[in-house]
Amino acid sequence: MTYPINGRSGHNYLGNSSPSKREVHRLKDEKTNCQVDEILKAGHAVGFSPDTLDQAHSDGYDNCAYCIGGSTR
Ligand SMILES: [Zn+2]
Repeated sequence: MTYPINGRSGHNYLGNSSPSKREVHRLKDEKTNCQVDEILKAGHAVGFSPDTLDQAHSDGYDNCAYCIGGSTR
């Protein structure tokens, strides 16, 4: 499941819930191109429970090409 978050603190992964994006970012490998600040500002940031990449995929999120790679789109 996903739930809204408003910061990076305490999270391994952050999702962009914008319907045109639906991407997951790995915060420890975050790059400028991830635009996480913009995602947070737009109110599109979600956390995952449990906080794993598998869960993000189960929730329909695709890998960010910059911090994870291997996008399936
Ligand atoms: Zn990213």
